[in-house]
Amino acid sequence: MSTNDFFKKLQTSVKEIAPTTALELVSEGTSKLFDIREDREIESGTAQGAKHIARAFLELQISQHAQPEDTIILMCASGKRSLIAAHQLQEMGYPDVVSLAGGFDAWKASDLPSCQPRILASREQSRYARHLLMPEVSLEGQLKLKDSRVLIVGAGGLGSPVALYLAAAGVGTLAMIDDDKVELSNLQRQVMYTEDDLDNAKVQASLNRLQGMNADIEIIAIEKRLNGDNVEEIFDGYDVIIDGTDNFNTRYLIADACTKLKIPNIHGSVYRFEGLVSIFAPDTNPSTPCYRCLYPEPPPPELAPSCSEAGVLGVVPGVVGCLMATETVKWLLGIGEPLLGHVLSINALRMTFKKLPIEANLECRWCKSTAEDFPDYVEVQSAACAL
Ligand SMILES: [Zn+2]
Repeated sequence: MSTNDFFKKLQTSVKEIAPTTALELVSEGTSKLFDIREDREIESGTAQGAKHIARAFLELQISQHAQPEDTIILMCASGKRSLIAAHQLQEMGYPDVVSLAGGFDAWKASDLPSCQPRILASREQSRYARHLLMPEVSLEGQLKLKDSRVLIVGAGGLGSPVALYLAAAGVGTLAMIDDDKVELSNLQRQVMYTEDDLDNAKVQASLNRLQGMNADIEIIAIEKRLNGDNVEEIFDGYDVIIDGTDNFNTRYLIADACTKLKIPNIHGSVYRFEGLVSIFAPDTNPSTPCYRCLYPEPPPPELAPSCSEAGVLGVVPGVVGCLMATETVKWLLGIGEPLLGHVLSINALRMTFKKLPIEANLECRWCKSTAEDFPDYVEVQSAACAL
């Protein structure tokens, strides 16, 4: 059979529609339009309202975007590949599949609305290939991560794994604030650093390490200590704040500023063989608590255990930090069930993970306050301990 005969035969089984008809159907919401051209072909534009699935993935991914009862319009460059693909989808049990006659060339020639799709550079497509395969992430989610801004307070045992995994995941802007330098006793758990980093500023060493792993994102190093005077300015513009701190003073400051500024606070803490993870974002749902609902006031300094005295199993902040990074990525993508209104309690010796519900305190004067009557940031005097 010649190529011409092959396409003539396909045209007897697959209906073709004109671009103007396709636009009407898509505008009415009765049909779904898919651009099945290759990634490099859509760089110069696609039909408005079209969803891009490259031809190679069409059969594998169509069920994530359309049901068998949907009317599906396939578009390629000239209307030939879409004929073959439409026939294939019919074989798969999608009876109502049509091909856009003349493809995107005809769409443009008819002067119909086009748009410039956002895509990832080919280098990013390779880097995030395992994300792009999953419908819960896909191109859309990866672009969300790329547009996200995350600030990690504390570049220590918790901050290390969180930063490494968020940088690897492609969070577009990742900032770290810390004023410490790398010490030998840090290397037991702060996996960001090597012996070459000893005596160097943690945020500078982190910047080098993270940028070396992912040059496609922006890393911001802030060599400062967070305080009541600078916290709002530093937090401004971030989508999520990660609490990887080692002292109650900063922990309460982060909690209060996040509540006031309405920024989600991804919380993690460790003590010897135990850890806690949660998310506090009281404004997203009135019934979920803030940190102060749970712990209204910091413990007195004599009761606040010093980590340098109590000790911590080095791998425990690694486990807790990885869970914090997981919650952060989920939050940024808007998938799954976040730990809102729950705290995950981990015991490494028993190897137990308990997800416990926590409730908002109706009397809490922090999350029930507006920004105008918000209490002053409380400077809690507590010995900073090197986590
Ligand atoms: Zn509260």
